[in-house]
Amino acid sequence: MSYITRQLERIKKQNPGELEFHQAVGEVLRTIEPYILSNPIYEKEAIIERLTEPERQIKFRVVWMDDNGKVHVNRGYRVQFNSALGPYKGGLRFHPSVNMGIIKFLSFEQIFKNALTGLPIGGGKGGSDFDPKGKSDREIMRFCQSFMTELYRHIGPNTDVPAGDIGVGAREIGYLFGQYKKIKNVYEGTLTGKNLLFGGSLARKEATGYGLLYITQEMLNSRNEDINGKTVCISGSGNVAIYAAEKAIAMGAKVLTMCDSTGWIYDKDGVDINIVKKIKEENRQRISEYVKYRKSAEYKDGKFEWTVPCDIALPCATQNELTEIGAKNLVNNGVKVVAEGANMPTTAEATEIFKENSIIFLPGKAANAGGVAVSALEMSQNSLRVAWEFEEVDNKLKLIMKNIFNQISDCAKEYGKAEDYVMGANIAGFKRVTEAMIAQGLL
Ligand code: NDP
Repeated sequence: MSYITRQLERIKKQNPGELEFHQAVGEVLRTIEPYILSNPIYEKEAIIERLTEPERQIKFRVVWMDDNGKVHVNRGYRVQFNSALGPYKGGLRFHPSVNMGIIKFLSFEQIFKNALTGLPIGGGKGGSDFDPKGKSDREIMRFCQSFMTELYRHIGPNTDVPAGDIGVGAREIGYLFGQYKKIKNVYEGTLTGKNLLFGGSLARKEATGYGLLYITQEMLNSRNEDINGKTVCISGSGNVAIYAAEKAIAMGAKVLTMCDSTGWIYDKDGVDINIVKKIKEENRQRISEYVKYRKSAEYKDGKFEWTVPCDIALPCATQNELTEIGAKNLVNNGVKVVAEGANMPTTAEATEIFKENSIIFLPGKAANAGGVAVSALEMSQNSLRVAWEFEEVDNKLKLIMKNIFNQISDCAKEYGKAEDYVMGANIAGFKRVTEAMIAQGLL
């Protein structure tokens, strides 16, 4: 039995029930198996054993009171997975589906993603099974304060710097920051994605979505193609999806679909992103509201299964949303490119379908790294006590996404599969983080 097979079996046994974590580790290790096996140093240094065991995982009780005086208890998590390259860095997710397996998979992915940015950040992730939907502003505030009352002791600008993710945007980061400041009596950049008034970075809000389009354009450039004139289907209508759509439209593409967890819209004339922003960002309503503003659009209840023909598919909602059904629909309708805005939105079976049909596939750990990259730039600005202009941050983001594409493309070529960006991203990230781990001794 190979080193990798033994490790995957051990991981399943030692982490029972953590299905998303098994999936994420399996995907990374299987795609780079030949590379690891041809370098015996990794087994000698027990690198896979070390890389798949978090440095620290924290689970805590969060007690809060709703507007009617009823007391609720939720679970909080922070997984500090790997600090070989810098302080732990990764978002906080508030969603009822959150459990240790999901936070561990996100944190594990974050190690490689952060390594690919070339910036000094390690991998971490956290969150809670708290559901922000339908809660009042005051309830959100009380929950965030209670969450931070435990989390503050585990984080710091040189230790662990959380950010947003699903269910955690600028409002939540503001409440978390306020409570951290109050308890610690320090004004420091321990969270990113902050309001511009207290240390936030211009272009952070846009960074993941814009970065996704920059790397997609970079990949198309390498084939003498362009986003301009292409049709694009997007899933989700949150932070990543909105700014991916905005940039795609600005680059001359036509965005045909968006969705939320209740249903999806198809606008044959192209999505008007300002309407989506109004509905989702300002009014916090369902995406179904969109058709009230646009005659060219239709709304359908239920899961979006990628039934609308397009050139480029950008899954930007959540993990495992793009299944075999969606992949077959996309392939049958002639999709050319799939680029992941969300973390692990494509199931293993769907990824296989894209591979069999030679669809160009950009994995999330490379394609959505723009958000964490600008978070690291926010950390730099906080340390320097400066605030860069939007254009300056945006230009740095473009350069980072270009570098990521070059790294994953070079690595794919070097290891014999020029178009395999999944393998390219996994090897490039793995090499960087494990080199640092080995150089730092047995940790
Ligand atoms: P948001 O909470 O802003 O938006 C999430 C969107 O996905 C919402 O429209 C939500 O709909 C939808 N959604 C969630 N679950 C489902 C589901 N099961 N089916 C259909 N739609 C669903 O989150 P973000 O945009 O920040 O994050 C989206 C993804 O991108 C996540 O995987 C996240 O980890 C990843 N990511 C985010 C980064 C960032 O900077 N924000 C950085 C890198 C990755 P509803 O409102 O109905 O729940």
